[in-house]
Amino acid sequence: MKYISTRGGIEAVNFTQAVMMGLADDGGLLIPEQIPSVSEAELSSWRKLSYPQLAVEVMKPFIGSTIPESDFRDLVKRSYSTFDASEVIPVKQVGDIFISELFHGPTLAFKDVALQLLGNLFEYLLKRDGGKLNILGATSGDTGSAAIHGVRGKKGIDIFIMFPDGRVSPLQERQMTTVPDKNVHCIAVKGTFDDGQRVLKDVFNDLDFKRKYYLGAVNSVNWARVLAQIVYYFWSAFRVQEQTKAKRVQVSVPTGNFGDIFAGYVALRMGAPIQRLILATNENDILSRFFNTGVYSRGQVCPTLSPSMDIQVASNFERYLYYRVGKDSKKVRDLMAEFASTKSLSLSDSGDPTFAAGRGDTESTLATIRKYHREYGYILDPHTAVGVAVAEKFLCDIPTICLSTAHPAKFSAAITQALGADLAHHPTLDALVSLPTRRVTLDPKPEIIKEYMESIL
Ligand SMILES: *Cc1c(COP(=O)(O)O)cnc(C)c1O
Repeated sequence: MKYISTRGGIEAVNFTQAVMMGLADDGGLLIPEQIPSVSEAELSSWRKLSYPQLAVEVMKPFIGSTIPESDFRDLVKRSYSTFDASEVIPVKQVGDIFISELFHGPTLAFKDVALQLLGNLFEYLLKRDGGKLNILGATSGDTGSAAIHGVRGKKGIDIFIMFPDGRVSPLQERQMTTVPDKNVHCIAVKGTFDDGQRVLKDVFNDLDFKRKYYLGAVNSVNWARVLAQIVYYFWSAFRVQEQTKAKRVQVSVPTGNFGDIFAGYVALRMGAPIQRLILATNENDILSRFFNTGVYSRGQVCPTLSPSMDIQVASNFERYLYYRVGKDSKKVRDLMAEFASTKSLSLSDSGDPTFAAGRGDTESTLATIRKYHREYGYILDPHTAVGVAVAEKFLCDIPTICLSTAHPAKFSAAITQALGADLAHHPTLDALVSLPTRRVTLDPKPEIIKEYMESIL
C-alpha cells in the first residue's frame, strides 16, 4: 500500500515513511492510494477475533510488507496489554443505546488506542532502521498525555507537547506535567488550541528545521492514528450485532479534529456494517454546520465543558474533503487556499448521506449526564454526553452506538456541575494530585518554540 498527499504534491511513500513523515511535505495530509474493501467472508471470520487479533487483520492491508506480520502482531499485543479491560474495548447497552468504552488505556481517553500503538511503532522502527525522532505535538488536552504515555522513556525519542495554558483541565495538565521521564517536555502556550496547532503547522513547514531535528508528528494528522482507530468501528459494530442481530448500526462520534470520525468513514468505506455516522459537536460547531449547510467557516473558539472538542479548524477535515470532491487534489488545494485566505470554503454538491450532524450545547450536555445517571446509573463524560445528546435526535430502527471517548473522572468538574457531587473517580487520577510537576510557559510563536527545542536537543 502506498500513501499520497491530499494536495497531490509528493511522490507516493510506503507505510513506514508515512508514519515518520506525519504531515506531507506539500502541506497536505497523507492518505492511502486505495481503501481496501473487506469481503463478507472476511467480515464473518473477523467477528470471532479478540481485539488485538482483529486489529492486526484490519490494519494489515494498510501496512503491506513494511513490517513482518509476526513483529506487527507483537507490537499490537503489547500496545493493548496496557488497557485495564480484558476485552480492551467493552461495549455496553445503556437504555436505548450502546456505549463503546474507548477509555480503558493508561490516560483514560480514546487517544490511547492509537498512541499506545504509535509509541511502540516508533520505537520499533527507530531500533530497526536507526535514527532519532523528536515529536512535536499540540494538544487540546487528551492527545498530549496519551502521546506522552505512548513514548515516555523510549530510546531515541524526545517529545514536546504544547497545550493552551489554563484551557485544559487541571487533571489533564497533571497527566502531562507529572511524567518524570527526561524525554518529556511540556509547553504551556499563552493562547488557544488553534494557536498551538498553527504554530505546529508553521514549524513543520520549515522543512530545514524538520529535517535537521528529525521532527515527527503525533497529532491526528499522523496516518497511523487514524489507522488504529478504524479497528474499533468494526469491533463495536460486531459486538452490537451479536446482541441485536441487526444487519447494520449507526455510530455517534463526539468530534473535534475529525480524526476519530474520519477513521469511522474509512471503516464504512471498507465495508464495516455501518449505515451512518452521526457527527456531534459542542458549541464549536464548524463541522456540524458544514454537514448541514455545505459551508465550512471558521468561528471563534469558545471554551466548553468538553474542552477536547473546542476546536474550530479540524486538521483531519482535509482528508474527508479529498474524498468528498472525488479525489481531486487540485480542487482540495483550491478549497484549502480559499479557506486560508477567507476563513471559509463552501461546496455546492448535494451533501453526503453517510453523515448526520448536530450540536449539543452546554445545557444539553449537563441534562444528558443527569439523565443517564438518574435512569441508568451510568456516568457519561461530557464529550461522550455531547455524542449521546446528538444521537438521541437521530435514533431510528437500527441500533445506535455512541463512542465514549473519556472516563468521566478526567472531567470531574463537569460531573460535579451536572450531578451536584464529585461522583466520578479513578485511582490513576487520584494518585496524580501529590506528584511534582514540570512545564515551561511560552508564546505561541514558531521562532520561540524552535528556539526552545534547539536549547534542549
Ligand atoms: C480528542 C477527543 C475528542 C475529539 O476527537 P477528534 O479525533 O479530535 O475528533 C473527543 N473526546 C475526547 C475525550 C477527546 O480526547
